[in-house]
Amino acid sequence: MVIDKGDFWKKYNTVQPFLKATIDESPQKENLVSPEDAEEIDEADYCIQCGNCYYSCPAVNVNPDYLGPAALALTYRFNADVRDEGKRDRLDTVNHIGSGIWDCVKCFECAEACPKELDPIGKITKLHQQTFQEGMAADNVAVRHAVGFKPSIAKHGLLDEGELVRYSEGNIGVLKHVPVAIKMFKKGKIVMPWNMPKSKNMDEITKLVEIASTVKFKGK
Ligand code: SF4
Ligand code: SF4
Repeated sequence: MVIDKGDFWKKYNTVQPFLKATIDESPQKENLVSPEDAEEIDEADYCIQCGNCYYSCPAVNVNPDYLGPAALALTYRFNADVRDEGKRDRLDTVNHIGSGIWDCVKCFECAEACPKELDPIGKITKLHQQTFQEGMAADNVAVRHAVGFKPSIAKHGLLDEGELVRYSEGNIGVLKHVPVAIKMFKKGKIVMPWNMPKSKNMDEITKLVEIASTVKFKGK
């Protein structure tokens, strides 16, 4: 059986899957990459383009615009290459709501499906980090949802689902979720903000949050 992988290849090619570098056409010596720098590429170079991750991704299934794990793992492969000069261009391509890195729902299906154990979700997480390092993470609902765990953990040592939604969508945006919140409350799945429990290890958690706090939104 042969399947039509046209959509897979189209997205694969969208992310400029090649090294973008100023090449000396008559080099006098090899362009060496240190073992430490090569490690940054991680196992991302071993992709065999089988498409297993892509066709098992539920986010692709419900949103045909989503680039999917293979193209995003490939984006990371070239962005992590010290010889490459196209990192910001590629991040610009994958940093859109609706098609890019913020549309991954972190289900880990891609990691389970990959026969080469490339951990595409791990590469997508590293692309999230790159957008912050490059000052390209916009202050929008998708990015706030990704970083909104921090204030809740810093305050309670636990995730407050309601606060995460309010942090991501704002005080007005949260109103549309009230009917679902009431249902969840009745089933004991969430608690009122004033009843939110606190972790016993708050001192340690506070220190860890401070150490790990490097996130900055664009322009802030
Ligand atoms: S973790 Fe993200 S990319 Fe991987 S299968 Fe789930 S939604 Fe798709
Ligand atoms: S499953 Fe693994 S090897 Fe196959 S396309 Fe995805 S990342 Fe590449």
